[in-house]
Amino acid sequence: MNNGTLISLRAITKTYGEGVAAFQALKGIDLDIAAGQFVAIMGPSGSGKSTALNILGCLDAPTSGAYGFRDIPVEALTRNQRALLRRHYLGFVFQGFNLLSRTSAQENVELPLLYRGAESAQRHAAAREALAQVGLTGWEHHTPAELSGGQQQRLAIARAIVTCPLVLLADEPTGNLDSQRGHEIMDLLVALNREQGITVIMVTHEPEMAHYADRVVKFVDGVVESDSRKERHTPVPPPAPLVRGESQPLRSVLSSPDKGRPGGVGELRETSP
Ligand code: ADP
Ligand code: MG
Repeated sequence: MNNGTLISLRAITKTYGEGVAAFQALKGIDLDIAAGQFVAIMGPSGSGKSTALNILGCLDAPTSGAYGFRDIPVEALTRNQRALLRRHYLGFVFQGFNLLSRTSAQENVELPLLYRGAESAQRHAAAREALAQVGLTGWEHHTPAELSGGQQQRLAIARAIVTCPLVLLADEPTGNLDSQRGHEIMDLLVALNREQGITVIMVTHEPEMAHYADRVVKFVDGVVESDSRKERHTPVPPPAPLVRGESQPLRSVLSSPDKGRPGGVGELRETSP
């Protein structure tokens, strides 16, 4: 894997179910994604886009194949270690926002930090900052029901970036929005990519939204059918340093993928900072 490569998939397959009911959703995906890229994954419904995104996001494991994240062989990690990788490096945005409806905007955004055991003062400050980045200052104490669809998706983005992830994974983030709100969400994703160097991997079936990406990967029937890139006119900031929001235990995952060695991956546990 070369230096700029953040993510590398090799011969990834995914089969759902068993026996006669088995269905192969991914039939051998090879994909390298460089740090700082903005990638759109397109393709017809059922072509395996969400399955691939869930594997990239460590929400699901492939049936076979190799997934490298900064040279870490993800398939060799334990469930707990994959959860750590997810919590510290990855942010998610979904089509349906997936917000807690009776909980304030501020508390929705704080949630990932709560899982990480952050102190309340730190959580409050980071959540306010993330809400400001998505243009929701002043809406901290409102519940999602009091926000428009576009604002709810911006709130979900604030929740995804509050942990300073290296990668933002978005599954049809504009699918429930009208065109203007959709473009506002895309402008925000572009800004996070360009200004903060967050790698963005977005599933969409709307060509006008894919147009914002540097690269479009098309899936058909569980394989990559095409992969096209365009020249970028604005310089890419250097990839976010590994230490962003990172706690000591995770650094040891990344520096020492060596099971069983004291202090190495075998020792990894979720701990409060
Ligand atoms: P896309 O996001 O491109 O629409 P998906 O990745 O969601 O496609 O699904 C790919 C295929 O795998 C579809 O045929 C879908 O029905 C099937 N599939 C997805 N999830 C499951 C599951 N949990 N169990 C069985 N089949 C599934
Ligand atoms: Mg899907």
